[in-house]
Amino acid sequence: MSILVVGAGFAGAVCARELADAGQQVLVIDRRGHVAGNAHDRRDASGILVHLYGPHIFHTNSARVVEWLSRFTSWRPYEHRVLAQVGDQQLPVPINRTTINRLYGLELDEAGVASYLAGVREARIEIRTSEDAVLSSVGRDLCDRFFRNYTRKQWGMDLSELSAGVAARIPVRTNDDDRYFTDTFQAMPAEGYSRMFERMLDHPAISVSLGTQLSDLSPSERPAHMIYTGPIDAYFGYRFGKLPYRSLRFEHQHLPGVQQWQSVGTVNYPNDYDYTRITEFKHLTGQEHTGTSIVREFPQDEGDPYYPVPRPDNEALYQRYKELADAERDVTFVGRLAQYRYYNMDQVVAAALLASRNCLDARVG
Ligand code: FAD
Ligand code: UDP
Repeated sequence: MSILVVGAGFAGAVCARELADAGQQVLVIDRRGHVAGNAHDRRDASGILVHLYGPHIFHTNSARVVEWLSRFTSWRPYEHRVLAQVGDQQLPVPINRTTINRLYGLELDEAGVASYLAGVREARIEIRTSEDAVLSSVGRDLCDRFFRNYTRKQWGMDLSELSAGVAARIPVRTNDDDRYFTDTFQAMPAEGYSRMFERMLDHPAISVSLGTQLSDLSPSERPAHMIYTGPIDAYFGYRFGKLPYRSLRFEHQHLPGVQQWQSVGTVNYPNDYDYTRITEFKHLTGQEHTGTSIVREFPQDEGDPYYPVPRPDNEALYQRYKELADAERDVTFVGRLAQYRYYNMDQVVAAALLASRNCLDARVG
């Protein structure tokens, strides 16, 4: 074995395939008993394809990422739509013309929405926090109805304690576009994520050992080079203290005989309940079934690390770990946990393609 890849999620699997295609022998390990990391999907007892770790919708503007993944899957076009339960109404998120007209009983056209927003937004000299980002785009009332409480639930902190980039993931629109994403490519792997990963890892030079963690391998069993995609602080034994990662508890439910639970893929619950959102998988996959399956997401501190928590102090702590990582010549750190970045799947694929190129160059050089 010439390269060990720790983690069989997007970061690990993409690197493994790139390195194997370039002639390296690769061992992939994952502490979980399955491939695809947090994008893992499987059929539940009723036969409905569900995402074990919450809804994963693929979207990207990168033709290169689409081209690369398309070697391992065909695609089913899918544009995600989200409604937020606010009071007794379900309104489109991102906030758009429909949201504003329905919420306030108005009949504004696009220009009217633009001037409405201009009237309510709070000017900020500097957009530092997520509160700055939201108040400066939609003002206080919309912030309090759609963002403040959702964010408190999701992150366990106020908008003002999170970097601007978190809430800035959600745009605001003056038109009626009610798609969650506007990327040029929006589609789901036709047979699911896990199937795509199986094909990615199906290569004579790749072996996969599931249910295996890095600490199970003795130093003599470790190849000279390693691609590490787990949490960066864990790799260094939490030397500088723990980097916060936010976790979730997923409550899956099958509803026999229910054709449709909700009208769109995801409904957000910003203000009530302990969960942030409910996703109904049949919308995402197009699967036909006499029943339906949904998942509720309950945020929590403890548990598997799912989200880096973007805040300046966490970034500073990450930078200290990154210095150590940069000095590890024989280890490449890549992915959402190893780079402590709030990456979407496509960004992880792009980061992994770059990391494997650098790794190969270093081995040749
Ligand atoms: P992971 O998928 O976390 O893979 C890392 C793997 O490493 C894990 O399987 C872990 O078990 C393994 N591992 C860690 N440490 C060790 C060790 N010491 N030994 C062995 N194995 C180890 N992105 C989108 O683009 N669209 C979405 O709609 C979307 N929705 C999301 C919803 C939720 C609830 C979450 C949590 C994320 C979502 N994402 C979405 C982000 C997406 O999940 C990530 O970008 C992507 O899966 C990260 O891939 P990764 O390989 O970096 O990490
Ligand atoms: N957000 C919110 N209300 C919403 C949707 C999003 O306050 O209805 C904020 C919240 O802080 C959330 C962030 O915007 O964590 C990013 O939302 P996104 O849907 O991108 O989160 P993810 O799918 O990554 O969990």
